[in-house]
Amino acid sequence: MGLNTQILIAAILGVAFGFLLNFYPNTPFFDASLYGLGIASSIFIGLLKMLLVPLIFSSIVVGVSNLQSGGQLGKVWKITLACCVTTTTLALILGIGCAHLFDVGKGVDIAMFQDAMNQHQTPDTLTPTSFLTNFIQNTLINPFKAFSEGNVLAVVVFALFFGVALVHGGERFKTVRQLSQQFFDMMMFMIIWVMRLAPIGIFALLAKLIATEDISVLNRLVEFAAVVTGTTIFHGVVVLPLLLWIFGKMSPLTFFKGARSALITAFATSSSSATMPLSMKCAQENLGVRPATAGFVIPLGTQLNMDGTALYEAAAALFIANLMGLDLSIGQQLIVCMTAMIASLGAPGIPSAGMVTMIMVLQSVGLPAEAIAILLPIDRLLDTVRTVVNVQGDMMISVVVDRHTRDDEITT
Ligand code: ASP
Repeated sequence: MGLNTQILIAAILGVAFGFLLNFYPNTPFFDASLYGLGIASSIFIGLLKMLLVPLIFSSIVVGVSNLQSGGQLGKVWKITLACCVTTTTLALILGIGCAHLFDVGKGVDIAMFQDAMNQHQTPDTLTPTSFLTNFIQNTLINPFKAFSEGNVLAVVVFALFFGVALVHGGERFKTVRQLSQQFFDMMMFMIIWVMRLAPIGIFALLAKLIATEDISVLNRLVEFAAVVTGTTIFHGVVVLPLLLWIFGKMSPLTFFKGARSALITAFATSSSSATMPLSMKCAQENLGVRPATAGFVIPLGTQLNMDGTALYEAAAALFIANLMGLDLSIGQQLIVCMTAMIASLGAPGIPSAGMVTMIMVLQSVGLPAEAIAILLPIDRLLDTVRTVVNVQGDMMISVVVDRHTRDDEITT
């Protein structure tokens, strides 16, 4: 049985086992199972995280140096950026549009949430300007600090510099270039080992999520959860595949078949960073993206391109405004969209990261930061689907970019 099939079966069994555990709360069986699931999922996630920083660094260095020596870096960079901005803008329009269409939050009694909001500690004010300053200050730092702290954005920036310098140095840095290539190959080799554990890890992660989340709180926010999830799925199943078909000339079926294991892992881990090694493997091996393109686009997209998060944040801001009986003007909605775009750029690819940057979106139009207390109970559940779409966007962009730069090679 292939790994993809094993992962799919493991995901289904994991969800089923999670529901089964819900029937035996506070029993020795429940506790023992949760302990076992906790160990299995930590080993899987831990191994992925262990490989993440060296993989991001080596893949960008190798990607940049290969693309630049082929004279394609400028073009790859531009197409990647254009794709990120286009897909995120479409996601934002969808998020705002559907929140309006279904009037999410209108008619819901805000008093229901008053306790949660009162108990919530107000975090420091997070404005787009202070966020940008922090963003820059956290990015241009000592690379060794960035490596040890797992600061992905700073690692990306250092790797870009390193890669460009490597090519400009030419023959002088030949050994470092070979070393980087071999180091990267070795990382991919190790990922294949970790992937053997993926079915067990995914089973454990999903069973734990279902068994520990309080699904009953969903009832109170069911309409909002359904609209956000439905819209996110629409973006992932209709909008992105359509763009892929038009600009990447790849059928959605081929894409989903090739990307399946990364998408299921994204669902189970709710972390695009933890899924990145897999996204890269799927893009190269199943979707036919050249290693240089995948090595450049996927790590960059993991950090910067988050359609699901942007869509969620825009819709959630409208939901909170409606709950409070406020009508946001068109100008305010534009501010929400722009802030949500910056927020999705800066959100790290870890579970519930969107909740933290959500504060900035709420505050941008004067909504209280405490209101995230309303969304927190359902966030881990909604995070699963938006992370899938985040990861899907990265892989899709790598296909589009690769296709357009490949044509170049043929015609020149
Ligand atoms: N969990 C998401 C991701 O890793 C980020 C978010 O919370 O929206 O892509």
